[in-house]
Amino acid sequence: MSNEFLDRHIGPSAEDITSMLNSINCKTVDEVVVKTVPESILFGNRMDVDEGLTERDSLELATKLAGENILATNFIGQGYYGTLMPSVIQRNILENPGWYTAYTPYQAEISQGRLEMLLNFQQMIIDLTGMDISNASLLDEPTACAEAMMMAKRANRKNKSNRFLIDSNTNAQTITILQTRAKPLGIELVIEEIQNNDFSDCFAALMQSPGTNGEVRDLSSDIAKAKDNGVLTIVACDVLALTLIKTPAEMGADIAVGNSQRFGVPMGFGGPHAAYLATRDEFKRMVPGRLIGVSQDVLGNPAMRMSLQTREQHIRRDKATSNICTAQVLLAVLAAAYGIYHGAAGLKKIASKVHTKAASLAASLKAAGFELATEQFFDTITINTDAASALFAQAQQAGINLRLLNDTQLSIAIDEATTKAELLNLLGVFSVSELIDSEGILSENMMRQTEYLTHSVFSDYHSETEMMRYLKRLENKDIALNHSMIALGSCTMKLNAATQMYPISLPGFSKLHPYAPTEQTKGYQQLFKDLEHSLCEVTGYDAVSLQPNAGSQGEFAGLLAIHAYHDSRGDAHRNICLIPSSAHGTNPASAIMAGMKVVIVKCDEAGNIDINDLKAKVEKHADNLSAIMVTYPSTHGVFEVEIKQICDIIHTNGGQVYLDGANLNAMVGVTRMGEFGADVSHINLHKTFAIPHGGGGPGMGPIGVKAHLAEFLPGDPLEKDSNAVSAAMYGSASILPISWSYIKLLGKYGMQRSTEVAIVSANYIADALAQSFPILYRGDQGMVAHECIIDIRPLKEQSGISEEDIAKRLMDYGFHSPTMSFPVAGTLMIEPTESESKREMDRFITAMTSIHDEIQKVIDGRWDKDNNPLKNAPHTAYEMSGEWTYPYTRQEALYPVESLVANKYFPPVKRIDNVYGDRNLFCSCITTEDFA
Ligand SMILES: *Cc1c(COP(=O)(O)O)cnc(C)c1O
Repeated sequence: MSNEFLDRHIGPSAEDITSMLNSINCKTVDEVVVKTVPESILFGNRMDVDEGLTERDSLELATKLAGENILATNFIGQGYYGTLMPSVIQRNILENPGWYTAYTPYQAEISQGRLEMLLNFQQMIIDLTGMDISNASLLDEPTACAEAMMMAKRANRKNKSNRFLIDSNTNAQTITILQTRAKPLGIELVIEEIQNNDFSDCFAALMQSPGTNGEVRDLSSDIAKAKDNGVLTIVACDVLALTLIKTPAEMGADIAVGNSQRFGVPMGFGGPHAAYLATRDEFKRMVPGRLIGVSQDVLGNPAMRMSLQTREQHIRRDKATSNICTAQVLLAVLAAAYGIYHGAAGLKKIASKVHTKAASLAASLKAAGFELATEQFFDTITINTDAASALFAQAQQAGINLRLLNDTQLSIAIDEATTKAELLNLLGVFSVSELIDSEGILSENMMRQTEYLTHSVFSDYHSETEMMRYLKRLENKDIALNHSMIALGSCTMKLNAATQMYPISLPGFSKLHPYAPTEQTKGYQQLFKDLEHSLCEVTGYDAVSLQPNAGSQGEFAGLLAIHAYHDSRGDAHRNICLIPSSAHGTNPASAIMAGMKVVIVKCDEAGNIDINDLKAKVEKHADNLSAIMVTYPSTHGVFEVEIKQICDIIHTNGGQVYLDGANLNAMVGVTRMGEFGADVSHINLHKTFAIPHGGGGPGMGPIGVKAHLAEFLPGDPLEKDSNAVSAAMYGSASILPISWSYIKLLGKYGMQRSTEVAIVSANYIADALAQSFPILYRGDQGMVAHECIIDIRPLKEQSGISEEDIAKRLMDYGFHSPTMSFPVAGTLMIEPTESESKREMDRFITAMTSIHDEIQKVIDGRWDKDNNPLKNAPHTAYEMSGEWTYPYTRQEALYPVESLVANKYFPPVKRIDNVYGDRNLFCSCITTEDFA
């Protein structure tokens, strides 16, 4: 069972594992597993998955599959466009672990680099849309439309209507996703033409600019009329078009949404891409998704962090207004970098070229007698022709993808990457031989009059040298996996191997349009089939949908499947969702979105689900029981012995078991949820299956189901009423090769070994730390699963030092904090994963032990209660330069342990004041004058 890659993936060596086993008093790895996983669910490795490949063979196979996808010339458009990613961005961000292995910026002091880039993204969207405030990414354009719909419902309380109007000139995928999201909330969708609509009975209206057929319209008078009727307006906008045409703000809209894909991000057969939502100042406290704001650190220097509900979303649980957790940070960073590198003039030039290419094409077709359906357009023209289908087929023969809008209309979309040769080829299909030059056709009253991207960040970095250094400067401000271990419990920050990452840059995977004909996507289809099979084998489920593009979306899709199943059996009234108090915030938030009622089940002293309370709640709600959402192993980091019984109780009472699969890294090759009683789960591919966290996204959250739920999995987003949850059939398809490669490289045995080592390492860390910090929960044989929770509350009681002080102090030691106060307030949850070496874990243990000694000094009165290195953490390099006023030494502050001498990280700011930032909400780029 030798596997070359396995030794690269697993951090500890064989000797290290032996030594760890010694310290946890176990003889073998098997013994650890047997003591940790309940016997009743320990099935052994039953996965029908091949043994691992070498890195060379895996790459070769991926390259072969990419080669089986056909790269046609795309004129499909419909929200996805060919792009040219500047090489400086590809090399320094997309292919740079300093950016892609970072975590979500909850610990703001060590995340200033990516926070600055996200602030740039917000500023860019604010400028382009003309709105006052923008969030820092949503999952895709249709879900952004859905979030906007929900936000408008909340913002427009006065309007009692339950109807949401959608302009008929809107992308099909947007309409489908809105259907999926509106139905459980009891919102009725009305699809009509916006022009001359009387807006008589609806709370909000969505329109698209340009329309799905490419038409550029001045929506001002429609929006004004909506406003007169007390109706809020949402405009879905194209970011590139906005550099030339009137903004939604100029037209009077309340909310602007869209996708930033065409700012240098490849189509990737559907994603990932960063969507956005921008709005007027008066709605700023209702914005869904992450919002980056400028606050200050304790010295009064500007410092960024996530603001408002962005931090509250999970805490608010069933009161949460959105279930978004993992979003699209890396993609927002890429789009912002594109905007920065090109600047206002550069973007305008790109947009003008796209427009004149489209105008030339239109002029040439018109001269040949073709009739245009769109008078005003930016990049997409629609022609009326009885020969639409024939021309569509002819084009395909010539390797050209067009969009067949209906029997008599064809659409053609131009993008940044379209060449003159491609245009001439295309004209050939229409038997036109000459490309007529055009200067553009947009009428004066549709042209944008306002300036944008005037902040200096958008003009300072246009040379490659300056850009490269700016990106490096930001990268240096952050801690990512290329600096030190990130032991975030529940997040599984394992190795994202370069060989797994490599395939995403292959054009055969990155350049496909999500709506390309199936004949062109055979390589992808093979990869999906393979991945679906492996995920079924890993989980014991019968079918998998690769559509949900985050765990939260998987939860939503899974709950919809459960509801549809009940409905099919005449049980549509079943709407109670039981959720243990320890659940992740997305669970209750998703249940609410799925139209369910949340009933909380208590946990007992040992952290397990309180079976008596469960029985009582089940009995009380038996008639209406829809599901339980349970995380396994639990968010408390233990394998509950009663899991089978829990599943039985639910099933006996007519309910379904949704098992949150975020902790799958503790189960692969050891047990299978599909076999011990679960009906459906999401699988966070960005946790267990090696997709990097990207600083807070992208991720993927496919769901696995037992056979009886298979027919209720999400369908095609281009088909109405299909229960689709993402804009593309396979969600963020272009990152699936990462997880596919992970499985190919590790294989059947390697995946099992990874689970085992993850459990051994977690127990090693738990036992080592237990000497300083109590371990909150353990299984019945004293073991933890793949993570452990240390309780800070007793120490805090004695010393006044909180879990947050420890988190900030760890920064001085060069570490990212473990998960703070989830699932229990006043604790830290630590998950080492199988990829961390014993040496690195020991460094972490040394840091934590040293911090414990520091706390002891506070308790003993050797250090001041308030003025000590813990309360004052983190310490910056800049502080060293001035007069040293602290009652402890510089060495104690900055180099508390020896190993830092060789590898010291300096946080760029001191501790950040969150309250100040929320009170003085400031969410755009700052100038020094601004901040003063
Ligand atoms: C990460 C996580 C989720 C949410 O997944 P996302 O991919 O971030 O949406 C849900 N439940 C648990 C227990 C998690 O750890």
